[in-house]
Amino acid sequence: MNRYLQSKERLQEARAYVAGGVASSLRASMKPTPLYVQKAYGARIQDVDQHEYIDYMLAYGPLILGHAHPAFNEQVYEAMQKGSTYGLQHEGEIRLGRRLTEILPCAEQVAFSGSGTEAVMLSLRLARAYTGKTKTVRFYGHYHGWSDAIFTSFPSPDFSSPGAVEATEDITPGTGGQSLNSLQDLILLPWNDPEALEETLTRYQHEISAVITEPVMCNSGCIAPKPGYMEKMRELTTRLGIVLIWDEVITGFRLGLGGAHERFGIQPDLVTIGKAMAGGIPLSAVAGKRDVMRLIEEGTVMHLGTLNGNSLATAAGLAVIHELSKANGQAFKDMEHTSTMLTEGIRSILKVNGLQAVVNQLGPVFHLMFIDKTEVSDFNTFNLRDTQLYTRFAEEMLHEGILVRPNGLWYVSTAHGEKEVQETLLAVERVAERIAGHK
Ligand code: PMP
Repeated sequence: MNRYLQSKERLQEARAYVAGGVASSLRASMKPTPLYVQKAYGARIQDVDQHEYIDYMLAYGPLILGHAHPAFNEQVYEAMQKGSTYGLQHEGEIRLGRRLTEILPCAEQVAFSGSGTEAVMLSLRLARAYTGKTKTVRFYGHYHGWSDAIFTSFPSPDFSSPGAVEATEDITPGTGGQSLNSLQDLILLPWNDPEALEETLTRYQHEISAVITEPVMCNSGCIAPKPGYMEKMRELTTRLGIVLIWDEVITGFRLGLGGAHERFGIQPDLVTIGKAMAGGIPLSAVAGKRDVMRLIEEGTVMHLGTLNGNSLATAAGLAVIHELSKANGQAFKDMEHTSTMLTEGIRSILKVNGLQAVVNQLGPVFHLMFIDKTEVSDFNTFNLRDTQLYTRFAEEMLHEGILVRPNGLWYVSTAHGEKEVQETLLAVERVAERIAGHK
């Protein structure tokens, strides 16, 4: 009996019509097969083979309220009754724009688009136009979408002499077909290394338009910045006339309504937000200082997009803000509590079974890595994790009714509670015993 027969058959059928069979390349990596979904509700998702899973993938982050949240759905339906997009202006844009400037400490103005990738593209353009410089500094292990100017792979980082890492020829494209010319404007640095940052920014200050960083390295190990590092980045970029962009596509609306920059008490010049901001409807934004954002009004920087600011998306954004603002943001405390129960439980179960692992948690997001270390606080160490073992763990968890990403990052939503935690930990126990027994 094949547990995933229907999903496997659907994938075969899809391959005839959908390039690659899946709609986003990453999804093809799911083992034993990319799942096809029947329906989803709250913290749970059901596949076409009629299995139910507790969902910690949450569509790669957006579902902060879980699936099919009733009040969220109601708001979006209500908007849809009046038409889903106009290509004209409407009240929802103003209301969401105003709320974002209230919520995000660094935001004086916002510009809407549809995906995190687009928001990052716009932020980089704003920075170039604002400074009149062209280079962008980014970091190993961070992800900022798949546009030509920023998409890279990380083949063999060598941080043995961190100060010297600046050569553009070392940068490899993230995909075939990428314009290599655009990568000439990138400088790739190790993150959490204040000396490398200072040396490079000082040396290339007249060429660097922007430093773009995830405030927490969520895409590689959920690694927090070292004390003082982000402050140093802020101080250096201000002093050297470089725009500081925090890519809060994951951390925005997740570490708190005001994202990581509210949590850390630091003001970047621009932030990019997306994912959780509209609870699963496509919406992203660049938000930041009026001084930079005004380039759009002046017409210096073009900001385009047929579906930008559509009324479904703005209704979704407002609904998410409404739900997450209730009771003084209690939802964030609850999600953090749920996440902590999970991480503490997982750590102790793995330990009892003799499986060496590190779990890095920041509020309602955490990364589980099988690794022979006591902590993972840089990208080099992150790369030492046992990815094969984790893939096996994720596959076994799937058999137990728990859906987790094959790369180790777990998300928690407001729909996850004690019941889900109990079920999940029982599943972890069974899987850990199996893995430990047959290693
Ligand atoms: N920035 C970060 C930090 C991300 O994690 C992602 C997506 N994982 C993006 C940008 C790109 O967002 P999107 O997939 O919506 O284009």
